[in-house]
Amino acid sequence: PDRKLLKEHLQILEEAKKRDHKILGPKLDLFTLHEEAPGIPFIHPKGMTIWNRLLDYWRECHKRAGYVEIKTPTILIKELWERSGHIQNYSENMFFTSHEERDFAIKPMNCPGAMLYYNEKNHSYRELPWRVAEIGQVHRFEPSGSLSGLFRVRSFHQDDAHIFLKLSDVQSEVIKILSLVQEIYSTFGLTYELALATRPEKQTIGSDEAWDISTKSLKAALDVHGLPFKINEGDGAFYGPKIDIYIHDALKRLWQCGTIQLDMSLPERFSLEFTDADGTRQRPLILHRTILGSVERFFGSLIEFYAGKFPLWLSPVQVRIVSVATRHADYAKEVQKVLQEKGFITDVDDSNESVSKKIRDAQLAQYNYILTVGDQELEHKSIALRTRDNVVHGEL
Ligand code: ZN
Repeated sequence: PDRKLLKEHLQILEEAKKRDHKILGPKLDLFTLHEEAPGIPFIHPKGMTIWNRLLDYWRECHKRAGYVEIKTPTILIKELWERSGHIQNYSENMFFTSHEERDFAIKPMNCPGAMLYYNEKNHSYRELPWRVAEIGQVHRFEPSGSLSGLFRVRSFHQDDAHIFLKLSDVQSEVIKILSLVQEIYSTFGLTYELALATRPEKQTIGSDEAWDISTKSLKAALDVHGLPFKINEGDGAFYGPKIDIYIHDALKRLWQCGTIQLDMSLPERFSLEFTDADGTRQRPLILHRTILGSVERFFGSLIEFYAGKFPLWLSPVQVRIVSVATRHADYAKEVQKVLQEKGFITDVDDSNESVSKKIRDAQLAQYNYILTVGDQELEHKSIALRTRDNVVHGEL
């Protein structure tokens, strides 16, 4: 509408180009996409370093928060997906396969597997809330026109968890999840927005009363948590209302990451039970929740948020040692050995290029620290330190 806004918009586009994960990812050798697997990324060794550190951190937080972790099958018989309601409500997004005259579905969600696990034994009220996490790889069909880098894919890993609990525990449990969201997102410096998504107009399962109670308890938890949230009418899942967590990409667009969904329907469909304090058999409720959401999408968001300059703990290229001349190569490798023993990811550039070119290459590749070693450093058993942003710390 006006010149000032146009200028701002053009600046955002310019900045976004520098941060676009679809450009930076392949450039920094983190991941690629091939036409042979539309919408399913190949994660490279440097990308795997970030991926594994991200999940190590995630596991540490969840262990502390009282979660256990499982891994359930990717291919399960079609009847299971009829029982869960996915065939009736979600089949256009599912991949199928048949063998030995049996039909199977490739899981688009981890829930049915978690239900089978719950039913493996009897449960007491003392175990609840029971928090069962799974880094589950799911496949969902998305039209080829909608695929976009790591943000919209056909296969991704959810940092899923199913929490089995009583209605009276829903509010306090959702508050706990929102705190975990806050803890994890703030570790990365990410800001986010919350939204309560209510019942869709069609294709839902569950009674009016169930929808009403579950929507009210999610709203109550959001009110207590205190962060502002908006309401997305009709944007809920087919089996229940949800709280969605959105983060911004480089173009200031919002992408859904985490989600917290209350479900009164699956416990019914899978006849889940627990023994209450008075000895009666009762139905638990389920909270489905993810915090990162899709690990792939979260990874893409981190690339954009940091513009490829990952903090040291996540960085796949922490330290490069640059030798000034050939005669310093052995000492460079000695330094590398010391750092490797301390757990740092390091490599050595002992090529015949000039020192200034070698430093520039390391900076463009986003090495956090660049150590140069020449005559003086060899003699003093020291190094000269600078950062990727060219802050020179000198001899150490
Ligand atoms: Zn689920």
